[in-house]
Amino acid sequence: MTNFTESEERQELRRQVAKLASRYGRDWFAEKARSGEKTTELWLEIAKAGYLGINVPEEYGGGGGGIGDVAAVCEELAAQGCPLLMMVVSPAICGTVIARYGTEEQKQKWLPGICDGTATMAFAITEPDAGTNSHNITTTARRDGDEWVLKGQKIYISGVDEAANILVVARAEDARTGKLKPCLFVVPTDAAGLEAQAIAMEIVSPEKQFQVFIDDVRLPADALVGDEDGGLVQLFAGLNPERIMAASFATGLGRHALERATAYAKERTVWKAPIGSHQAIAHPLAQAHIEVELARLMTQKAAALCDAGDDMGAGEAANMAKYAAGEACVNAVDAAVQTHGGNGITQEYGVAGLIVASRTTRIAPVSREMILNFVAMHSLGLPKSY
Ligand SMILES: Cc1cc2nc3c(=O)[nH]c(=O)nc-3n(C[C@H](O)[C@H](O)[C@H](O)COP(=O)(O)OP(=O)(O)OC[C@H]3O[C@@H](n4cnc5c(N)ncnc54)[C@H](O)[C@@H]3O)c2cc1C
Repeated sequence: MTNFTESEERQELRRQVAKLASRYGRDWFAEKARSGEKTTELWLEIAKAGYLGINVPEEYGGGGGGIGDVAAVCEELAAQGCPLLMMVVSPAICGTVIARYGTEEQKQKWLPGICDGTATMAFAITEPDAGTNSHNITTTARRDGDEWVLKGQKIYISGVDEAANILVVARAEDARTGKLKPCLFVVPTDAAGLEAQAIAMEIVSPEKQFQVFIDDVRLPADALVGDEDGGLVQLFAGLNPERIMAASFATGLGRHALERATAYAKERTVWKAPIGSHQAIAHPLAQAHIEVELARLMTQKAAALCDAGDDMGAGEAANMAKYAAGEACVNAVDAAVQTHGGNGITQEYGVAGLIVASRTTRIAPVSREMILNFVAMHSLGLPKSY
């Protein structure tokens, strides 16, 4: 029988993460962002509790769980107003790719630090000129004796200042065909020739985005993760987790906005009854709540398929979940701002501060348009337009 509720264990995990994160909360998070400080305390505490690397195999310091578990952690943090973008990247994308394709030595070298939060790993695929079209990336890796030499540029790379390493998607020359093929390299953030410049963003978050310049960075042979000829398949291993995590980030943020809005709508009274009794206020909140719950259901389905090893099924569901969650998050935040009236725009109430973060869930890590392209082509069989 299909069961549409999560296991008791998963629900308990959610309760525990929510309890931990509620000791920090939105005001703490926003204060850190506005003062240019980091959320390291929270990061290390979730790591110590075993939540950060909950999806990573136990023998490398993880919890031996699945993407569904780490996605639940990500969602509950966001629902408490503390969305941590680096959870999407470090344990979910990098952790999954290394656990699946790394050698025994590579797993021992990088996974424990990802799990205990002391060696966070950023992920870099986006380039200024390639953008959404990842097939056009030009960061290249050239062999020089036993070493690799990397050259290129990346943009919008999250958390480089908090990371020990970056999993960089580059291209190496195929010995047989001479063509460039995608390969993954772990690059230390303090490597000679690597420079990162923060991009001024309007997101209220302690986590920053960077432009990364890779200028003949020399790497040892074992910086290459996976088989040199493994190509895109290895990269794709990280993409379903990425979408599921991004969806969870978005539904968590949507839940947070709705909780704030409903609490306010029950209290605020300017006529005879609280504003929440007016359908013009209640209906958009109810609608947003339905959309968030639908997106959560699809996200849980995608995670279950991913954890069951059905990569194709998970791919379609993860894309749909990411789309639905992004839309639901944007609508929830919009309704929350409107519910607060003028207070919705103040720093004190902190609701407007969610707007840019919610819009980001429509753009990154894969845009709404590219998901619609995917569904049009793969689910509906329509021709490709680009
Ligand atoms: C906060 C934030 C954090 C990020 N973190 C990371 C990170 O850690 N690592 C990383 O590698 N990247 C990261 N990114 C980059 C992110 O993945 C890209 O911004 C995203 O994939 C879109 O690429 P682009 O910005 O180059 O937009 P473009 O590719 O220039 O696209 C612009 C617009 O055109 C649309 N478009 C493009 N092609 C098509 C098409 N064929 N059909 C229809 N519409 C199309 C897009 O959907 C978009 O709306 C981050 C971005 C943000 C905003």
